Amino acid sequence: MENRQACGLLFELSRPGCPGARLPACDVPVHPVEELIPGSLMADRPPPLPELSEPDVVRHYVNLSQRNMSVDTHFYPLGSCTMKYNPKRNDRLASLPGFSDLHPYQPAGTVQGILGLLYQGQQMLAEIAGLPAVSLQPAAGAHGELTALLVAAAYFRDIGQKRTKVLIPDVAHGTNPASAAMAGFRIVPIPSTQRGIVDLETLAKELDEDTAVFMITNPNTLGLFDPQIGRICQMVHQVGGLVYLDGANMNAILGICRPGDCGVDMMHFNPHKTFGTPHGAGGPGAGPIAVSERLAPYLPSPVVARTEAGYRLDYDRPTSIGRVRSFYGNIGVLLRMLCYILTHGPDGLRQVAEQAVLNANYLLARVKGVLPVPYGDRCMHEFVASAARLKAERNISAMEIAKRLLDYGFYAPTVYFPLVVKEALMIEPTETESKATLDAFAEAIRQILQEPLELLQQAPHTTPISRPDEVRAARQPILRWQAE
Ligand SMILES: *Cc1c(COP(=O)(O)O)cnc(C)c1O
Repeated sequence: MENRQACGLLFELSRPGCPGARLPACDVPVHPVEELIPGSLMADRPPPLPELSEPDVVRHYVNLSQRNMSVDTHFYPLGSCTMKYNPKRNDRLASLPGFSDLHPYQPAGTVQGILGLLYQGQQMLAEIAGLPAVSLQPAAGAHGELTALLVAAAYFRDIGQKRTKVLIPDVAHGTNPASAAMAGFRIVPIPSTQRGIVDLETLAKELDEDTAVFMITNPNTLGLFDPQIGRICQMVHQVGGLVYLDGANMNAILGICRPGDCGVDMMHFNPHKTFGTPHGAGGPGAGPIAVSERLAPYLPSPVVARTEAGYRLDYDRPTSIGRVRSFYGNIGVLLRMLCYILTHGPDGLRQVAEQAVLNANYLLARVKGVLPVPYGDRCMHEFVASAARLKAERNISAMEIAKRLLDYGFYAPTVYFPLVVKEALMIEPTETESKATLDAFAEAIRQILQEPLELLQQAPHTTPISRPDEVRAARQPILRWQAE
């Protein structure tokens, strides 16, 4: 409860006359401000800024920062988001002045180092994807999806085909249909079988000369790898379509399976998930894409090229879809990705995947006795449990379990997604968690389910805010302080 105390804004904490700093009188001659700025441009009184001492300000911000849950403070099993521990050295290396002080308009001759690293990044992602050509430009996973669909559209235009359909399984990530719609395609949902994988019969019926792209999230949002991927690629290629793989879940298959080897034509990576960047609440991220040889000419411009004279940005790409982001991508995130890949090496990356899958399966085995997992006895890097039976028998919903977990010091799993599971709790432990943490989390769920219903329905009890009106918070956010 002690956490519930009101937390005023700096404006409300302000004590008029309280100095923030005391500086010695200036001993160099200065021009009076009236001489430098015309009187007509001056405000008639100073702005109403809060007046506080330095320690007041420091404490205010440090206390605020601790009112949130984060990967550095809590276990964060937020399914689909891969909220793993991110090594601090990657932050340190990416912030070296040699990187952070560069200006994107510097001539290529003065930035050979970073261009070389970006080139290396393209090569590494190509190798991991099993696809030869890479663009580092897209700003996030969803943006990578959109970019690749624009690449596909440019390709079909170029070969004189008009195709309007994008087929998407119901166990794909929600950004897939959104990206396809933004790229101007019509979306056809493909149901999954009782095993949670693509229903090939429906797919066969929907595939025709109007099919541009089949988008598959593999492993999918149920945490299942669709082993039919090779067959699916053959079927789509037979009608002249392309296969897109949503690679946000690559941390389950790194070094084990290369999408390009299965016949996939294009994919995106989420470096902030798979290769570690502290992310959340929408950023920061990156969404590089990898594509097959025949799609390479349409990739965004510029790409980093290597010539005998050194590295350069190649803008001379007449069929490119053009630029999708300012400059060359989100370099801070791409540098962390490079550090991560180089630190682990090929064997280490494979171990990341094996550990992520092992942790998820261990937690699945510990949880399924109290929270059924409808699809699959085994999973990849995450699994989806269901509170449907608890809801029917005891009126305990997925939301109640998620909220109560916060009181136990665990961030909540993703809830009510994917839609194919009723009262879904999507749990992704990631490879960086210890057995002790997974045991404690499973035990917390078991204990919560033995508590009185009222305790759950009013949870969380220990957080600064309990249950905000989420719709109102999104529709009528109050984002700034206003003087009376
Ligand atoms: C996170 C995620 C995305 C979207 O990636 P962003 O970087 O958040 O835009 C797409 N697909 C899957 C499966 C994801 O988990």
